[in-house]
Amino acid sequence: MKVHFWGTRGSLPASVTAETIRAKIFKAIKESQGLSFHDDNTIGQFIESRLPFSIKGGYGTNTSCTEIVGGEDHIICDAGTGLRDLGGYVIQQGPQKRHTFHIFISHPHWDHIQGFPFFVPAYIPGNTVNIYGCHDYLEESFVIQQNFNNFPVALKAMSSDIRFTLLDPGKPYAIGGFTVKALQQNHPGHSYGYRFEKEGKSIVYSTDSEHKQDVDNRNYPFIAFFRDADLLIFDAQYGFSEAVQAKEDWGHSNNMSAVELSVRAGVKRLCMYHNEPTVDDATLEEFLEKTRRYLTIYAESNPLKIDLAYDGLEIEV
Ligand SMILES: [Zn+2]
Ligand SMILES: [Zn+2]
Repeated sequence: MKVHFWGTRGSLPASVTAETIRAKIFKAIKESQGLSFHDDNTIGQFIESRLPFSIKGGYGTNTSCTEIVGGEDHIICDAGTGLRDLGGYVIQQGPQKRHTFHIFISHPHWDHIQGFPFFVPAYIPGNTVNIYGCHDYLEESFVIQQNFNNFPVALKAMSSDIRFTLLDPGKPYAIGGFTVKALQQNHPGHSYGYRFEKEGKSIVYSTDSEHKQDVDNRNYPFIAFFRDADLLIFDAQYGFSEAVQAKEDWGHSNNMSAVELSVRAGVKRLCMYHNEPTVDDATLEEFLEKTRRYLTIYAESNPLKIDLAYDGLEIEV
C-alpha cells in the first residue's frame, strides 16, 4: 500500500506568487551557467540531479488531506483543500465508476473540512461518502460550512449517500479493510489521531496535536499509539523554540518532538506534516535538513527515515 499526500499545509492554504516562480527560474538558470544541453533528456537530468527540491518543486498549497491507497475503497484523512484535487483525480480515472470513500476527520477546524464543498464525487449519485470523527458536533460543522450564508450549495443537496459516524476513541473498528483506532490529542477543542493497521503494516495519522511536559512520562499514551509504526504522519508545524515560546498552547507540535517520539516508539518512517503556510520552500527544505541532523544527535545510529510532506508526495508502506 502507499500513502498519497494531497494537502499538507496547516491552518490556511499557502499562496504561490509570480515573484516566487520567477525567483526559482532565476536560481535554476544561474545554476545552469556554463552547461550546454543538447536534448530534452539532458535538461531533465540537470533538473533532477543539480537542482534542490525547493527550486525544481515546492511543498504545495493545499490544506490537510492524505489518502491511504491499497484497497477497493478510498481511505482519506481530513477534508482540507487537498480533497478537491483527490476528487478530480478519482473522476478522471473512471468517470462512470461508483466509489466508496471513508474520510476520517481529525477535528472540524476549517483547514480540515474546507475542501468538502468542492469534492465533486460527493455530488454524484451512487457514490457513498462515510465521514468519521469523534466530535459530537462533527455533522453540524459540515452542515454549517454549507449553510446559505457560507456556500451556495447545502450539504443535503449533494447527491451521493453521505453518512456521519461517531467513533469512540480507543475502540478498534473494522473499516475499509483496515483496523482503525482513534486517540484524543491536545488541541483547542481537541483533535484525534488515527492508527490504521492492515496485513501487519501500520500507519498513524497524528496532526494538530501539541505535546506538553507529560511527553517525558514513560507511559505517555502516544508511545503505545505510535509503537513500531511503518509510517507516522506527525504535526511539526513549528520549530522547537517557536513551539515552546511564542506559540505554546496553539495546539501544534514541532520537529524535535517528532524525532524524539518516533525514536522512543520505534517508528520506522516519519513524515512531518501540517506545514506552516507562511514559510517558503527553501526554509522548509532547510527545516527538513535540520531535523535529519537532530536525529543524528538524539539517536545517532537510529535508522528512522524522515520526510517533510508536500502536495503530491507518495510514500510506499
Ligand atoms: Zn490544522
Ligand atoms: Zn486545528
